[in-house]
Amino acid sequence: MKTVAVIGAGTMGAGIAQASALAGYHVLLYDVADEVLAQSLDNICASIDKGVARGKTEAATAAAAKSALQTTTSLETAAQADLIIEAAPEKLALKRDIFATLDAAAPAHTIFGSNTSSLSINALAGAVHRADRFLGVHFFNPAHIMKLVELIRTDFTSDETVATVRDYVDQLGKTAVLCQDTPAFIVNRVARPFYGEAFRLLGENAADSATIDQLMRSLGFRMGPFELIDLIGCDVNLAVTQSVYDAYFQEPKYRPHPIQRRMVESGRLGRKTGRGFYEYDK
Ligand code: NAD
Repeated sequence: MKTVAVIGAGTMGAGIAQASALAGYHVLLYDVADEVLAQSLDNICASIDKGVARGKTEAATAAAAKSALQTTTSLETAAQADLIIEAAPEKLALKRDIFATLDAAAPAHTIFGSNTSSLSINALAGAVHRADRFLGVHFFNPAHIMKLVELIRTDFTSDETVATVRDYVDQLGKTAVLCQDTPAFIVNRVARPFYGEAFRLLGENAADSATIDQLMRSLGFRMGPFELIDLIGCDVNLAVTQSVYDAYFQEPKYRPHPIQRRMVESGRLGRKTGRGFYEYDK
């Protein structure tokens, strides 16, 4: 496997592209607009440079990674990769449309992966004719740093596909864990109460977000729930909460909180918009 395409150059797509380029793959980074791609490429290059400045990346590796990154606004071009990882917005219909278009244009051997946090991988695989070469490849944020990757197989994913993608994850210096296609898989399922109870506390005015974050850090968490939601994106966090809630037939314990929707409706999405529960200097 030589070429990896990443569909969606946002928070996660940029990190996956960076990790793949640094591991020696040729990367085709797709997004809907040239401006988005230019910004994403700038961010990736700045992040690679930071790695060099901190002594974590050799200058030659960094230079090779930068020249291995190619951007495109053509799905047909991206479809020519050996492995395609989709990191587009968390919307089932949109992702299925993307996969159907890619399926028509990609060579037979190409493997399709989705970085979805919560949508059913079986439901996404239903959009293509290569269900044996389709799986979830769920990175964590920031994708170029976090070591864990969940590999989610559908009822049809072949052992060969899982083995090939496991090799790719190894090549990235990351650890793959094999999951079943249950709502939110393992990590995001475990994390539901972390977010849900924090929103309930905030909604009841038990404490403000900074205090809740500080308390959770004092217990040993690297980040409190609201700092983490700002990093993830309030829109992504709401979409994931909503889809887990729906996947369990409106199970009350997974119900989204009105504060989540208010944050999204007012455009306070977190770091990516410069403002969420905290303010950020862009
Ligand atoms: P994001 O909003 O940062 O980026 C999404 C990107 O998709 C944007 O660059 C946008 O321009 C692009 N896009 C919009 N329409 C598109 C289309 N039709 N085709 C292709 N690209 C399109 O979102 P993100 O946080 O990177 O999330 C992407 C995926 O990764 C989601 O499925 C999300 O659930 C998942 N995920 C997110 C996190 C996280 O912490 N943010 C962690 C793990 C997984």
